[in-house]
Amino acid sequence: MAKETIFSKIIRKEIPSEIVYQDETVTAFRDINAQAPTHILIIPNKIIPTVNEVTPEDEVVLGKLFTVAAKLAKEENIDKDGYRLIINCNGHAGQEVFHLHMHLLGGRALGPMLSR
Ligand code: 5GP
Repeated sequence: MAKETIFSKIIRKEIPSEIVYQDETVTAFRDINAQAPTHILIIPNKIIPTVNEVTPEDEVVLGKLFTVAAKLAKEENIDKDGYRLIINCNGHAGQEVFHLHMHLLGGRALGPMLSR
């Protein structure tokens, strides 16, 4: 069994968060430490710690992260100007929460992809 993180409590609404989308397989909520005017985390409800643990049976739910991202980008009115989707994996990428999540960032020019 994969280990629970704070994100499982958010999915179950045991701790406060601003959930902007939820269904039986995916939850999306605003990042507590927003790095841009729109900063939403889109996660599978199933615990997958990192991209390294992804299996073929996860392909449908992980595809859904993209359809939810596109829907939310439109709702946030950032779809035309553009936005960035980020999934960090392990230490070199700075992953802090080991429940796979996609960051949806937008609402301002985001600059170069990597800081130096
Ligand atoms: P990572 O660095 O793992 O890709 O990103 C983890 C993200 O989760 C960070 O941007 C951080 O601000 C966010 N985060 C961590 N704990 C919480 C929380 O309790 N609530 C919310 N809404 N976001 C959180």
